[in-house]
Amino acid sequence: MSDPTDQLQKTLKERGFSLTAVRKTTFEALQDSEPLTMQELVSRCQDFDRASIYRTVMLFEQLGIVQRLQIGWKYKLELTDSFIHHHHHLTCIHCGVVTPLPEDATLEKRLQVLSTLQGFVPHDHQLEIRGLCRNCRPSSTIA
Ligand SMILES: [Zn+2]
Ligand SMILES: [Zn+2]
Repeated sequence: MSDPTDQLQKTLKERGFSLTAVRKTTFEALQDSEPLTMQELVSRCQDFDRASIYRTVMLFEQLGIVQRLQIGWKYKLELTDSFIHHHHHLTCIHCGVVTPLPEDATLEKRLQVLSTLQGFVPHDHQLEIRGLCRNCRPSSTIA
């Protein structure tokens, strides 16, 4: 994978957009972290106003740079598989923390095979596992 910022610039350029400061900052904020809510993202890009960040995220969604990770009725934002390594998430329904699930080639292969067996051509997927994290699971209060 080439340098993510170069790739961002290329993706923008192909569609007639330039890499502005707000676009770069928004991208880097998402790159350096676990998935963020819009609120969290705005607070990490303090040099820019909320409206600029919103517009940037909308553009990034259109261009396939950012995707929404649906968590119940809310969502968090993360970079798409083109910009970060493909992975899945564990979401705690109690405290809301989202952690990446270790990569598993067998699982990926299985999903591919099962889809193909249905005559389906899979492009991408998201897999969300909801439950209780280490801190929120009941046994931690008993122990
Ligand atoms: Zn938790
Ligand atoms: Zn996967």
